[in-house]
Amino acid sequence: MKDIVGTISSPAIICHGGAGHSAKDQPGVDAAVEAGWDILQSGGTALDATLASVVMMENDPALNAGTGGRIRSDGSVQLDAAVMTSNGQFGAITCIQQTKNPILVAAKLLGENVNILAGTGAREFADKIGVAREDVVGSSKPTGNDTVGAVARDETGLIVVASSTGGCTGMPVGRIGDVPLIGAGLWCDERIGIAATGIGEQITLKMSSVRIADRTAEGYDIENVLNWGVNQYPSDVEVGFIALATEGVGLGLANTKMPWSSK
Ligand code: ASP
Repeated sequence: MKDIVGTISSPAIICHGGAGHSAKDQPGVDAAVEAGWDILQSGGTALDATLASVVMMENDPALNAGTGGRIRSDGSVQLDAAVMTSNGQFGAITCIQQTKNPILVAAKLLGENVNILAGTGAREFADKIGVAREDVVGSSKPTGNDTVGAVARDETGLIVVASSTGGCTGMPVGRIGDVPLIGAGLWCDERIGIAATGIGEQITLKMSSVRIADRTAEGYDIENVLNWGVNQYPSDVEVGFIALATEGVGLGLANTKMPWSSK
């Protein structure tokens, strides 16, 4: 990937712990940023940095993605995850079971000729690449959402977005939210990387991530485009975004509480 981009850039990273999560979940997000930052500082790629950050948050029971993903209406835990890069790669898995770190499975689809795998097909792909089947207990919190995300830029200028979720509480089996949907839950191009969190159906209807990114082409700065994105929603629809462009630090914005942290 370094060869493709070829420019020298200043590394940066931003992570979020989900719309609706409060300040008590901030330490897990701060730790995730540090994990990714350490990789970037030692010359690592934006892909490795975002994966390290998201794995750390997937493993944090306070943040609930991965290990503690939301329980579906039938008691199962089905997880979604996606990765997108500024050099045109995308991989996503949806409704995968028995997988504690779905982000690592989604990342293995980058560069494959299949972009998205669902359910049993996703799990069989995970078997093929050596990801162990493990019980995922899940979270039975009565309300709230469940997404974590990271956007990083490495010294070559490559930007990567990684996002992972257990969805929203009580969703039906097979429900797919915004997180694995390109342009809705995430977007990454040569200008900006964006990850969304909040009510997945609403985010999908608005295709928010790509539409926010497109506004940067019109010359608006990151704060302006995120404000525009959040303002597309009524205040009773929880939504938040993190974004990182080709220069400067990342920014998070939400119409609700959303722990985020950047370096
Ligand atoms: N957007 C996620 C979903 O609907 C949930 C969240 O972000 O909290 O699956």
